[in-house]
Amino acid sequence: MKKRNRYIVSLLIAIALLIFLDVMAYYTTQRYATLLATASHENTPPKKIVADFQDAPPHVSLLFLESYDPKRIKYIFSPPKPPEPVYTGYCLTVPVLMYHHVQPQAQAVEKKQTTVSMDSGVFDQHMAYLASRGYNTITVKQLVDALRTKTALPPKSIAITLDDGYRDAYEYAYQSFKRYNITANLMIPTGLLEGADYLTWGQLIEMKGSGLIYVSDHTWSHYGVGGTNAEKIKYEIMLGKSQLEGRLGQPQEIFTYPYGTFGNTAIEILKQNGFSGAFSTLPGTVQCDSFIMSLHRTRIGNSPLSAYGL
Ligand SMILES: [Zn+2]
Repeated sequence: MKKRNRYIVSLLIAIALLIFLDVMAYYTTQRYATLLATASHENTPPKKIVADFQDAPPHVSLLFLESYDPKRIKYIFSPPKPPEPVYTGYCLTVPVLMYHHVQPQAQAVEKKQTTVSMDSGVFDQHMAYLASRGYNTITVKQLVDALRTKTALPPKSIAITLDDGYRDAYEYAYQSFKRYNITANLMIPTGLLEGADYLTWGQLIEMKGSGLIYVSDHTWSHYGVGGTNAEKIKYEIMLGKSQLEGRLGQPQEIFTYPYGTFGNTAIEILKQNGFSGAFSTLPGTVQCDSFIMSLHRTRIGNSPLSAYGL
């Protein structure tokens, strides 16, 4: 083949590849949207949770679980990344650690939840580490209030968050919180409570009563609020809020975005309804009042906490 022809063929292959990648990106985005819509359709909470996942590969920020069978996990490419946060205004360096399932590894294997679970023994070591290093564990409300009032927090302040209201939060994580006198935050999709793998209201009320646990709204059905359906977004946010306020007697003013997805519609609804701050899954430990409705969190896996710069 002539050199020129070879060049043209290479060029055509490159163009074909680009078109293919574009189509694939479109397809995965559409599929992602459909799956989220299906999962949180109407008033029926999803049977299986779509987890905002703790150990996703770097290029994947969301993971869809069709079942807990690891072979059937679908990796979903991230929706377009929101613009990089601008670290302006009043800022505090406060890591907000993000956990999901906490249970013995053997139980995670049995329940086929290994990919969304961390070992309860390792979790206990994490809590022991924070306690022995003199970390000051705070509620997410304390962090939001400090940013809003431009007040300093005690040195080594840190917030622990556990998403989604799994029953193992009571059976394992809560035991560690009590053991080391650690304050923690539970992000609760109220419609999933009382389900087979989820907390009961009784367990949540008991934990709240210990004074160690701050509970906050994570919608009713674990609904992704990144879209523009204001009516549905408001319904999900407000039903979670009213159920938590009714059962726990604690005003709801902090929100956590299911799947980490958020947009202007959700932010406006939150602001109009008494929410003073919200947490995303964007990484980072510097928290500023300029992005108080999308504060940052650090995904934590089975490595020691020292691996996360703590
Ligand atoms: Zn969640």
